[in-house]
Amino acid sequence: MSTGHITLLTTGGTIAGRGAHAGNASDYVAGSMSATDLLTALGHPDDLPRIETQELLSIDSKDMTPEHWLMIARAVEAARASASCQGVVITHGTDTLEETAWFLHLVCSPGKPVVLTAAMRPATALSADGPMNLYQALCVAALPEARNHGVLVVMNDQILAASEIAKTHTHALDAIAAPRTGTVGNASERTFCRPPAPGSAGCVPLATLQDDATLPEVDILHVAAGSRPALLAEAHERGCAGVVLALPGNGSLPDTWRDAALGAVDNGVRVIRSSRVANGSVSTRTAAILPGSGVLNPLQARIALMLELATGTSGLFARLAAGHG
Ligand code: ASP
Repeated sequence: MSTGHITLLTTGGTIAGRGAHAGNASDYVAGSMSATDLLTALGHPDDLPRIETQELLSIDSKDMTPEHWLMIARAVEAARASASCQGVVITHGTDTLEETAWFLHLVCSPGKPVVLTAAMRPATALSADGPMNLYQALCVAALPEARNHGVLVVMNDQILAASEIAKTHTHALDAIAAPRTGTVGNASERTFCRPPAPGSAGCVPLATLQDDATLPEVDILHVAAGSRPALLAEAHERGCAGVVLALPGNGSLPDTWRDAALGAVDNGVRVIRSSRVANGSVSTRTAAILPGSGVLNPLQARIALMLELATGTSGLFARLAAGHG
């Protein structure tokens, strides 16, 4: 019998949601269940290793902040430093799961598995999806094959790569998906079908961020037809160190935005062209004027830029945008 354990870190979300009516999956309070409640709902499967729990947060993930990401990352690395820890599972809300997962993927060293899981139905709902998702996440985190893949996400019988996911539906059970690349494995059978895209896992070691580090402010501006370019100057006035523009098409900057963008760059703001389109990459055509986010969507580009600015890791953003670590 293995003497190892899995560390379960809880942060809240719908997976820990409590509602008044089991038949209503949308009226509930996220983050209302304890770690013990979540584990009790699994029954006592005999194929799970020992589980140690740590309750980090009890929030709806819409309220997650970069300070929370840093706190979760430190808890992950502290847990994995224990010799008997085989892996870490984090319960999280689906709303901002992709941001926390991408951040952790970049700052947590490859090695012992780190697996995030979540649910779309609250724990008190009929056919709640949380218990199976949590059970499968714990099983995957205990797999030796799950090591060195970077951060993983287990939901809805799927093993997904943190670097490839997005929330793709507001209420369907399969709301977390990897739209461009698909799954990396089957969580029910505990098998992998391909390694995740290589390279970026742990490329910004947590140790490069000071203990009291904060991440610089980087905003995303969603540029719609006729949006005001003055939004960029306002972002600068608010003290943003960087702005990611979620632009139409393949990252096309409207002519009316050109002067404002160049003015912001002159003022020392890093301005990145990204795309508001879900699939495909950003054109390098106007890269000489403003760098593009390449394969990164606006949420990923924002975090990559925050980390480059926070650590002074020259070229980090460009490498991640090119699909490398
Ligand atoms: N609002 C919830 C959250 O992100 C949604 C969920 O977990 O599915 O915490």
